[in-house]
Amino acid sequence: MTLTEILPKLASGAMSSRCLTEQYLAREQRASKLNLYITKTTERALATAGTVDALRQQGTELPLLAGVPVAVKDNIAVKGVPLTCASRVLADYRPPADAHVITALAQSPLLGKLNLDEFAMGSSNEHSAFGPVRNPWDLSRVPGGSSGGSAAAVAAGCVPFALGSDTGGSIRQPASFCGVVGMRPSYGRVSRRGLVAFSSSIDQIGPLTRTVADCAYVLNSICGHDPGDSTSCSEPVPDFTDYIRNEVTGLRIGIIQEAFDNGLDTDTGAAVMSAARALETAGARLQGVSLPYNKEALACYHILGPAEASSNLARFDGIRFGVRSSAAELSDVYKRSRDFGPEVKRRLMLGTYVLGARADEDLYNAALRARTIIRKYIDRLFAEVDVLLLPTTPGPAFKLGEQPNPLTMYMNDYYTIPSSLAGLPAISMPCGFTDGLPVGLQLVAARYEEGLLIQVGHTWQCLSDWHLQLPEVG
Ligand code: GLN
Repeated sequence: MTLTEILPKLASGAMSSRCLTEQYLAREQRASKLNLYITKTTERALATAGTVDALRQQGTELPLLAGVPVAVKDNIAVKGVPLTCASRVLADYRPPADAHVITALAQSPLLGKLNLDEFAMGSSNEHSAFGPVRNPWDLSRVPGGSSGGSAAAVAAGCVPFALGSDTGGSIRQPASFCGVVGMRPSYGRVSRRGLVAFSSSIDQIGPLTRTVADCAYVLNSICGHDPGDSTSCSEPVPDFTDYIRNEVTGLRIGIIQEAFDNGLDTDTGAAVMSAARALETAGARLQGVSLPYNKEALACYHILGPAEASSNLARFDGIRFGVRSSAAELSDVYKRSRDFGPEVKRRLMLGTYVLGARADEDLYNAALRARTIIRKYIDRLFAEVDVLLLPTTPGPAFKLGEQPNPLTMYMNDYYTIPSSLAGLPAISMPCGFTDGLPVGLQLVAARYEEGLLIQVGHTWQCLSDWHLQLPEVG
């Protein structure tokens, strides 16, 4: 069910949270092949559901999503519940406090912690110490990454909504591969307190849902200023449900020309363009725009991301968090405790090189300057158009093991990185199928204009039914 269907049932008492939670738990039992969870918190979920049901019976006023089951990516801290980041390094680590988003959703039964690429570095979920997640549409294929567990769980109907994190595309790319909606809100819109940092100047938490309208409900519950996160913004938060409108008349949609030039799977491009034309028929104005910096953005991201990661992950030294080697020498304790997988090691070595590079090749600052140029360029586009439209990924989900080359793997983020670097909100939603696999359409808006993404996205979902397709499970 969608949140739009669930919320009135819970509010009227037609369905209890306990019953709802049990149904999702039962569905997940049938989907065990997908390897969605690293840790399940079933008892806790049922206890929350029972409390919420009792409060509702007493007539207590409850938050919007009270009683609605949720699951979160396992790089978000829940007090006392193992937090692994899909890494051996953090095995057995239990955080002392809840992330801000967990506090915000305290009355939503938490089903568990979802699988991901180790420390959110990856595009396929193959880089998890707990084994890969499988794509519910085809078990031989990847669900995307790094929030692969979050996207696959929503797609398989095992949870009505999930939270993920997006640095270079980790919410949108798996949403596209699994046929669900995923939004990366503006940088700073959702507090990251309690999210394990990968690249602090880019990371953002966001929702994965079945519909665009559902995304509005989740945003209403998790957005807003948090003094506990110094990068959290104090921009007023609108009621995002006001934007659930089937109305695009006069809105200007910029079609990014370069995105359709080469490297894009033909069927995916056709599906994205047919969505654009449907929106034009509904009254939007399409306009070609140029964004020539995708290649540079990718290079820039792979300097900034690893540099910040090498700094952020230095804290995992075996002394304060997770597993500690019993070696006698301190330097051996560090070395042996830092038992990262190959992709994380690759990024940390690259990042350490970037930060240690000689001053005459100050790569980090050069990348920061390039990023500013890209951001200003995109910001200027919003003088001409209201939203930008492009594919989310170069094609549909690939097979497990099909992309062993890291550089090929990094190309998955070709269309998602520029908006990430610019701190802009962006959403992916289903726009068709190629060979039985879903593909996504991406919309990007100016900073803090998530509402416009909801409005245009919802209009598209009123015109289409791709988001209503469900994979067979179990
Ligand atoms: N796939 C991208 C990467 O490998 C994005 C990761 C993310 O957004 N967390 O870095």
